[in-house]
Amino acid sequence: MKNPTLCVLLSLVIAAHSSPISTALNKQDEDMAERYLKRFYDLQEPEDPVPWHKTNLQELKLREMQQFLGLRVTGKLNSETLEAMKKPRCGVPDVAEYSIFGEGLKWNSNKLTYRIENYTPDMTVAEVDDTIERALQVWAKVTPLRFTRIHSGIADIMVSFGKRDHGDFYPFDGPGNTLAHAFAPSAGTGGDAHFDDDETFTYRSSRGYILFLVAAHEFGHSLGLGHSQDLGALMYPMYIDRDPDNFVLSADDVTGIQSLYGPNIDVNPEDPDPKPPTTPNACDPKMVLDAVTTLRGEMIFFKDRFIWRSYPLRPNPQLTLMSNYFPDVPENIDAAYENPQSQTVFIFKGQKVWSLNGQVLEKGYPKSITSMGLPNSVKYITAALHDPVTSKTLFFVDKHYYSYDEIQKKMDEGYPKLVAASFRRMTGKVTAAFMFKGYAYLYSGPKMYEYHYRTRKFYRKLTTNYVFSC
Ligand SMILES: [Zn+2]
Ligand SMILES: [Zn+2]
Repeated sequence: MKNPTLCVLLSLVIAAHSSPISTALNKQDEDMAERYLKRFYDLQEPEDPVPWHKTNLQELKLREMQQFLGLRVTGKLNSETLEAMKKPRCGVPDVAEYSIFGEGLKWNSNKLTYRIENYTPDMTVAEVDDTIERALQVWAKVTPLRFTRIHSGIADIMVSFGKRDHGDFYPFDGPGNTLAHAFAPSAGTGGDAHFDDDETFTYRSSRGYILFLVAAHEFGHSLGLGHSQDLGALMYPMYIDRDPDNFVLSADDVTGIQSLYGPNIDVNPEDPDPKPPTTPNACDPKMVLDAVTTLRGEMIFFKDRFIWRSYPLRPNPQLTLMSNYFPDVPENIDAAYENPQSQTVFIFKGQKVWSLNGQVLEKGYPKSITSMGLPNSVKYITAALHDPVTSKTLFFVDKHYYSYDEIQKKMDEGYPKLVAASFRRMTGKVTAAFMFKGYAYLYSGPKMYEYHYRTRKFYRKLTTNYVFSC
């Protein structure tokens, strides 16, 4: 029997919200959607001219697209789906069977050549050379594949920049949307990677598309990989802004490429590379959340570079990237809470705090946590819990906690206290926390403890994924 308090949690959150903003569909959007589905999901014109056949086919393909990209599966062209269709992405279809781009093809040799045929004016020659080399090394690092650059003749992987019609029946589309495409391994154009030079490519800065990220993805196709539905994978079809200097392939990418070519035989077994990161699974009973907060009626659950949002009218919280939602806040945060009176969310990492009005970073932030009165000896907080009734916020630092008065904007006297002294049964460190309808939910690793906040009465111990309707 599920706990009734928590059972109503998500449904109340849902009810508290109005419906998602529905965009009035115009002809332009409808045409764009049809082109998108034809291009990336193999939408065909029906053989008979019956209009509802066409509608049915479209709905089927919309469902396929929503499923693939991890959107809410409705078969309807809603605002979320339209928004996803307008985002920058790779030009290779997500359903590959019908396409000459192919899938499951591989090179028969581990020694491959590449050639850079021309350059983009957006970057220096040295920057492009370095980027292409590093983007290939992403794959060489985890496979026996080795790449040699040649400067003339036909290489296995020919790299070029082009606009609109560039000689392969797959014209580019001007600025935005399609950024690049590449061909699966085979002779001729097989393995070649083309970049849309109507885009602005950059070396590192986020003003434009980071060529390294686009190229590393395209070379995945050049080596035989198709698109992945894993939001954390490099082979996910959409462009996702990331720090190129700390880039690592996801477990999904590594499994994919190693299924074609096997592992890198040159890795020293004494000194193996760290395990590639997996995308968190809400239903993993061992999952440990970084932080949880409410945000204007929604619940937000933080884990690594991902968040789950509980949307209105959506029973299953949806996984998305932190960088999409909180672009000004770093990943892997420590704690978060909302002060509903000021409609502000505070996010903590190390000795810094970010204050956000909705998703917008407030002026003067990030600040030091000492600005809230926490002593300099506190190097991080592990969880935060805000009580709107008393306007107090508890800051947990492992097994201790401080109390902050939101009205007087200062720390209360007599702290830190031992968590276990106030919250019975909580003997481990508090790793995340949130408040709901007078109940406090304290997480310790993969377990969650429920308390009546005012009386501190302990109710029960639950698993983290309890709120995810697994
Ligand atoms: Zn792609
Ligand atoms: Zn092309």
